[in-house]
Amino acid sequence: PVAPLLPVVGADTVVPLATGGTATYANLDNAASAPALSAVAARVAQVLPHYASVHRGAGYLSRVSTALFEQAREQVGRFLGARADDVVVFTRSTTDALDLLSRAVPAGARVLVADVEHHANLLPWQRSAATTVVRGGADAEETAALLEAELATGQYALLAVAGASNVTGEVLPLRRLARAAHAAGARIAVDGAQLLPHRRVDVGRDEIDWIALSGHKLYAPFGAGALVGRRDWLDAAEPYLAGGGATLDVSHDAVRWASGPDRHEAGSPNVIGAVALAQACATLAALPDGALERHEGALRAQLVDGLSALPGVEVVRAHPADAVGVVTFTVAGRSVSEVAAYLSAEHGIGVRDGRFCAHRFANSLGLVAGGLRASTGVGTGSADVERLVAAVERFVTTGPELEYGLVDG
Ligand code: PMP
Repeated sequence: PVAPLLPVVGADTVVPLATGGTATYANLDNAASAPALSAVAARVAQVLPHYASVHRGAGYLSRVSTALFEQAREQVGRFLGARADDVVVFTRSTTDALDLLSRAVPAGARVLVADVEHHANLLPWQRSAATTVVRGGADAEETAALLEAELATGQYALLAVAGASNVTGEVLPLRRLARAAHAAGARIAVDGAQLLPHRRVDVGRDEIDWIALSGHKLYAPFGAGALVGRRDWLDAAEPYLAGGGATLDVSHDAVRWASGPDRHEAGSPNVIGAVALAQACATLAALPDGALERHEGALRAQLVDGLSALPGVEVVRAHPADAVGVVTFTVAGRSVSEVAAYLSAEHGIGVRDGRFCAHRFANSLGLVAGGLRASTGVGTGSADVERLVAAVERFVTTGPELEYGLVDG
């Protein structure tokens, strides 16, 4: 059996069952939001009683908080292998980070994306007429080849791509794409939301220009994310928010904006969120090489094999060349919301159903009515996967005990 790789908070949460009794919650929805690492919770508890305003106050606690915030910035940068002149901008989330980057693209610069992206890495680009959205291929390899061919036309300034899909878990060959982008005079921005909880990335080594991430998918709480990478476009861009902390000098006629992270971090920052995110990075970085891959690889195989063996259950792109622990499946003839509601109500199992904020990709995979997604994290063990497979088996053989209203997937 595979044990959880790291302790997370709430692993013993007990939930009521609609059929009577209770169950320990089985969280198989890590791709949406992962529980905080116990190390993160401990760090937050340590820092929470002692913070004060950052970058502004002269008091002792203000100076301590400022140091903690800037240390967190450094730790996040180190975790991602940031180059000496890269900038680490704290944002609210991946959505926020990619939106910021999309506003920093120089006027007239062309952007390339594929339609397999999460809306967070599609809609900020799609709203610009200077964006080309190509159709994804039958697998990540084919999608990469299509992007490479399009890049070779030489008209792009930026390729935006997810490191791992939140629908199929497929991992894109990032270094190869980075080289293709650079060879064609373009840069590459990576949506790291799904990749970073599962794989180490080094932006210097992997030749990535920007990467975006979310704390709540990386075992830290909600509300803190980051955009890490090249500073030139960001320094030349309009500040993301106009306000205090982003300026050097303000007069009646003019505002001189700061450069670096300050430019895009107006207002009082989320210090606790940044510290929590940095702790998550440090704890993951301390894992032995390959530990994450071995852990989730075993769980993914168990999920795919267990679910595929059930009558009427189909796993979407079950065996990609490389994938993280994100597995989407359907149950023939049954609505995904019914199955998801049953798993929660009768078994205390949390999965995600729907089109996963990736409507274009879901539709092209034939999931117009949605799919069910089970996703693992460092807090997942094989017992969680066994429970899911057994519960789905029960659903397809004996059926649910109760009836669940059909909600539009
Ligand atoms: N990109 C991908 C691949 C994701 O899976 C998600 C979250 N589902 C996001 C971006 C957006 O992350 P957030 O909601 O934290 O901004």
